[in-house]
Amino acid sequence: MEILDLPEKLKKEKDLTDSEFKYILENNDLDSRIRTLAVEEREKIYGKDVYVRGLIEFTNYCKNDCYYCGIRRSNLKAHRYRLTRGEILACCDEGYKLGYRTFVLQGGEDLSYSDDDICGIVSSIKESHPDCAVTLSIGEKSRETYLKYYSAGTDRYLLRHETADNEHYSKLHPANMSPDNRKRCLYDLKEIGFQVGAGFMVGSPYQTTENIISDLRFLKELSPDMIGIGPYLTHDETPFAGFKNGSYQLTIKLLSILRLMFPYVLLPATTALGTINVRGREEGILAGANVLMPNLSPVSVRKYYELYENKICTGDESAQCRNCLEKRVESIGYRIITDIGNVKR
Ligand code: SAH
Repeated sequence: MEILDLPEKLKKEKDLTDSEFKYILENNDLDSRIRTLAVEEREKIYGKDVYVRGLIEFTNYCKNDCYYCGIRRSNLKAHRYRLTRGEILACCDEGYKLGYRTFVLQGGEDLSYSDDDICGIVSSIKESHPDCAVTLSIGEKSRETYLKYYSAGTDRYLLRHETADNEHYSKLHPANMSPDNRKRCLYDLKEIGFQVGAGFMVGSPYQTTENIISDLRFLKELSPDMIGIGPYLTHDETPFAGFKNGSYQLTIKLLSILRLMFPYVLLPATTALGTINVRGREEGILAGANVLMPNLSPVSVRKYYELYENKICTGDESAQCRNCLEKRVESIGYRIITDIGNVKR
């Protein structure tokens, strides 16, 4: 193996052997070359454009008990909230005025919203804002439910696979959650016609380099429209309280690797990346990311959607977030695009 040629090989073949991936993941000597090529690739397809998605965290009730997540069912200290249809629509109206043309409704798996409730929310957003895309990110559902969401006008669905390795999956989740069901969901969503986002946390407890390579291979097979990754960040009220945060550098490098493997893909510089490093989102864009997902939730509830500690932007009004992002993006020579921002396949 010609180590020095690995970045070029990754760019050309959009793939590497396991041992080659292991080398670039575990060593830093090729990082800057990988990053330069990733930015070239990004600019060939997306130029300096950065797409924005307004994120509405509409409920933090959750029936699941994922060991890493601050809003897991067993965290009795979490202050729970849910937004009404009217409150969600008000967030969208505000977001629309600020130039957002995609609304992402994310939440815990909250059974108090029936399929009809969710479909009603989606269709009223589409009715008020027919030029906008609606994305749901509310976890694992039956194929039948996904079909209803799709018929109601939902365009996209985000469901991180979390880890493609079964054994690792069982270390992150209780036994009643299965990696096969999560993957089944992703394939159902894709087949139904949603634009689909998958992804994983970088540096989650027990994650090995081999696990990350499995994630890359799974993503290759799925070929999603969006890939969301961010560092694992600890939360005191979870069983993983004693674990360290994931690595910022490795997350940045993985953004570049993903850009080279999936030149077309929508790749967000996530809130978790902005939380672990004050310039994380800018550096993410400068490593190949092309999407930002600013928070549109009402300020009164923002701090309660606490997946991890020290989450940024919990005190700012949506308009402040919009201005702040604009400045950050312009400071690095990129620009925010306010159209619907579809993937360029
Ligand atoms: N209930 C939805 C939304 C989950 S929250 C679902 O199941 O898809 C969105 C993402 O946040 C998760 O998929 C997970 O990858 C990430 N996340 C959760 N806890 C985290 C933590 N402690 N650190 C970093 N990311 C976390």
